[in-house]
Amino acid sequence: MALYGLGMAKGLLLTFSYLFRKPFTTQYPEKRLTMSPRFRGNTFVWYEERCTGCASCAKACPLGIIRIVTHPRPRADVGNDYNVDVFDIDTGRCMFCALCVEACPYDALHMGGEFERASYRREDLVITLDQLRALPKKPQTQFRPHLETAGYKGDTELDEHDAGRWSL
Ligand code: SF4
Ligand code: SF4
Repeated sequence: MALYGLGMAKGLLLTFSYLFRKPFTTQYPEKRLTMSPRFRGNTFVWYEERCTGCASCAKACPLGIIRIVTHPRPRADVGNDYNVDVFDIDTGRCMFCALCVEACPYDALHMGGEFERASYRREDLVITLDQLRALPKKPQTQFRPHLETAGYKGDTELDEHDAGRWSL
């Protein structure tokens, strides 16, 4: 019985000690934490100039939620090139595994760090081609080690030249 009382006293003492510690919570959205450069939000960063329309990202997605439609565009220097007509990503079903990013051979697709996209309608969670074009070009460094090697912190915009492992 005495042991039981001692355990309770220790527990209460521990609880009491938290009154004098700095709180762990952050008053979002007034205050914001500095995110890791590998943070995966629920957006993507897409560089149209780097994209060949190969659809490797769509094939790699385990959930099949990337839809790409292209049409051939003849080019004198390299033969056929492809215009991307549709590039939809259904983030309402996405598990943010980044396998699509890993599969992109041209560093055209990256995870994005935006996360304030709550919606009452599931269809609003589909990122369309126009939205991909308009989203901030702040690629996260998941599966993009060259960005970390260059000291990039994931919080500034990069153009299509700086986002890839080689120049266009
Ligand atoms: S992050 Fe994963 S689930 Fe989401 S689109 Fe890419 S491959 Fe598919
Ligand atoms: S984002 Fe990458 S993998 Fe997807 S179609 Fe474009 S080049 Fe291919």
